[in-house]
Amino acid sequence: MSAPQTSSQPVDQVKILVGGQWETVCAERFGDVYNPSSGKVIARVPFCSVAEVDRVVQSAAEALPTWAETPVVERARILFRFRELVVQHAGALAQSVTREHGKTLAEARASVQRGVEMIEFACGIPSLIMGQTMPNIAANVDCETIRHPVGVCVGITPFNFPAMVPLWMFPAAIACGNTFVLKPSEKVPLSAVKLGELLMEAGLPDGVFNIVHGDKECVDALLTHPRVRAVSFVGSTAVAKHVYETGTRHGKRVQAAGGAKNHIIIMPDADLEQAAKALQGAAFGCAGERCMAGSLALPVGNIGDPLVDVLCELGNSMKVGPTDTGADVDMGPVITHEHLQRITSYLEIGQEEGAAVALDGRKIPKSGDGFLIGPSVLDKVRPEMRVAREEIFGPVLSVVRVGDLDEAIAIGKRCTYGNGASIFTRSGWAARQFKHHFNAGMIGINIGVPAPMAWFPFTGWNSSFFGDLHIQGTEAVLFYTQQKMTMTRWFASERESHHDPVWKTGKG
Ligand code: NAD
Repeated sequence: MSAPQTSSQPVDQVKILVGGQWETVCAERFGDVYNPSSGKVIARVPFCSVAEVDRVVQSAAEALPTWAETPVVERARILFRFRELVVQHAGALAQSVTREHGKTLAEARASVQRGVEMIEFACGIPSLIMGQTMPNIAANVDCETIRHPVGVCVGITPFNFPAMVPLWMFPAAIACGNTFVLKPSEKVPLSAVKLGELLMEAGLPDGVFNIVHGDKECVDALLTHPRVRAVSFVGSTAVAKHVYETGTRHGKRVQAAGGAKNHIIIMPDADLEQAAKALQGAAFGCAGERCMAGSLALPVGNIGDPLVDVLCELGNSMKVGPTDTGADVDMGPVITHEHLQRITSYLEIGQEEGAAVALDGRKIPKSGDGFLIGPSVLDKVRPEMRVAREEIFGPVLSVVRVGDLDEAIAIGKRCTYGNGASIFTRSGWAARQFKHHFNAGMIGINIGVPAPMAWFPFTGWNSSFFGDLHIQGTEAVLFYTQQKMTMTRWFASERESHHDPVWKTGKG
């Protein structure tokens, strides 16, 4: 495992977007952005100071009154234009995602498409943002609700979906009339910058969408800034908890999605080949760097042996390599050298705890300096082991063999996370039991990765989510708006006419 290159070669500095202008920041601290396929530094990202964050938030605050008063159909029209531009540039965006993250081009394209669907959802804002009315709630009293923007909103995003996760947030937020500050992951800031360029090209007024870069200092400055009203966060559980606690303590509404350990139950009646292929995709797709990755397989009864055999065969057949060369590969590198070491250490921990390494990703033949590791299968894992409980976030599948469905459901109940869980079965009864009783917010039945599309909320439970209103779907509209109720009574004067109820008129 070779150490990554540091930025001895001159590389471009990533810019911030403030008040519609792209600016190079004179920061005191910087981070390196890698191409994980080559291990080379491709850009350096400034870590913005508290003063810089204040400047960016102020620009969002200045743009707010005009944008909030812009008719909703005009806001939607800009999003329609943005959607067209993202579709037009989907290839370049996918390449950018692959270059800075390392996932395959096919995976990057699919993630951009999921992001496009979030823009399409936001384009429907005139229908989504309507309030409710009820006439004559008391004699001559009418009641209505309308939805106002909340103000300056912030998005803080993780490294694993450089374009898609930002798109989970800002299209819906700005469609609702808010202004937005995005703080992308410092490991993958380049695709977010491309999205910002396309938004500007779509005609978004200056200051409505801004980008700031940085680490904890920058995030904490956003969480405590008095002009920020709402914070959307996606990342690891420890940071999600910190963001939720700090943000709410400072009076902001917060939705914070965290990490995961997703269980996949394979019943003895499941179609072995279909289930194993789905597991392969769920565990090793995007090199396991997905919050919905199926990282814990629970084969029930005698399906364990054949399942592990087929899984090892499938894993072994995967071509692992750099994703930026045009070569035909099934799995790319992981994000950094440090993350690669962390994944490797989990394989060692699993072995020390008594798991059997049925497929060893450390042994794949490697060329180049990319952060590569192959798929691994840890068999004979027990539920109390760390590799069964902790998020590894790499291409490692732990297999816990169980006697029956109840045992699998009981293991799920002890899990501190609660993002996704799936079952593979031909039995409607088993599927129903699982759907009803499993301790997770997103359920798959014969689906490996039950990640909801834009129109449905991303409903993580337990320490996979902190907050009330989830990301995506109509919950996003509720999160990015505040309701106002108006109750109205007009007093009739003697001179004004008094009508019969309309349905009585015309009867003569
Ligand atoms: P991370 O928590 O390290 O970073 C996420 C963001 O928080 C980044 O923008 C980072 O700059 C910032 N950050 C990091 N440390 C911080 C600190 N101490 N204080 C304040 N801000 C801090 O996460 P990551 O490694 O970029 O992403 C992987 C994690 O994200 C995994 O745990 C994965 O499961 C999770 N994730 C969850 C979902 C979901 O929907 N639940 C989706 C994607 C990823």
